[in-house]
Amino acid sequence: MSQYHYHNHKRKRRDPLALILWLLLLAVAALIVVYALRSRSPKTPETTAAPALTEQTAPSADTGVPSQAPASTELQTAPPTTAAPQTAPSTEAPTTAPAQPEPTAEDWKLLLVNADHPLPEGFTVALKGLRNGHQVDERIYPELQQMFDDARRAGIYPLINESFRTAERQQQIMDKYIRQYEAGGMSHDAAVAKALTVVAVPGTSEHQLGLALDIIAEYDSDNTATWNWLRDNCWRYGFILRYPKGKEEITGIDYEPWHFRYVGVPTAQEITESGLCLEEFLSQREP
Ligand SMILES: [Zn+2]
Repeated sequence: MSQYHYHNHKRKRRDPLALILWLLLLAVAALIVVYALRSRSPKTPETTAAPALTEQTAPSADTGVPSQAPASTELQTAPPTTAAPQTAPSTEAPTTAPAQPEPTAEDWKLLLVNADHPLPEGFTVALKGLRNGHQVDERIYPELQQMFDDARRAGIYPLINESFRTAERQQQIMDKYIRQYEAGGMSHDAAVAKALTVVAVPGTSEHQLGLALDIIAEYDSDNTATWNWLRDNCWRYGFILRYPKGKEEITGIDYEPWHFRYVGVPTAQEITESGLCLEEFLSQREP
């Protein structure tokens, strides 16, 4: 009787403990499975359906040429990446960044980066990896995907040619130009000066935001048709044609029919309807 009582007692005490252990075990197993799935399979829905058509086309001035795409392995969904704090541009001393008002949650969409407004120090962005090695700010991905889906439905086949760039990458592009000009017989100083006219100084390229994309036509299809479709429709997905014709003096960048920048739908609509460029729009907004 007392033995029975003892066992009984013991069982009663053990059961809840075993249950808890069992649940813990299950939770750990579930976590492992979730983790494994996340790190293994993020073949992201493709924004670019095509094999990287990287090496041709879009002459890009703000950027530097159609860049050698980083050897394109299929990218994983990138873990929140930090764009390395940008090294200060060499030529244009970015000393006079005006004091900014309190940032709001929406301000990331309107961050201005150009020769006079370098990337804020310590700028970071969480990136989403696409196929072909391209990366964008993860917050713009759903609308970007939608834009590409809708374009294809309309018989337009866009392809991302340039996307997020680190300061290092921007510097590489700059260096490539300098070497090219030097190889063509220019002095170093002349080569640097010339390169500065076609490539944004690291820290001043909008591509470093992860909000800018150079888009061309897939499979040698018609760039013009692609750019026209994007020009007319991109605002629906929060993008603007960033360097329009006729605004070169203000943007400091030649007309680039391929370069699109995310600003969010309301702003994109406003900018598109008004015909202003981003610099003008932002300066009108300031009190
Ligand atoms: Zn660009």
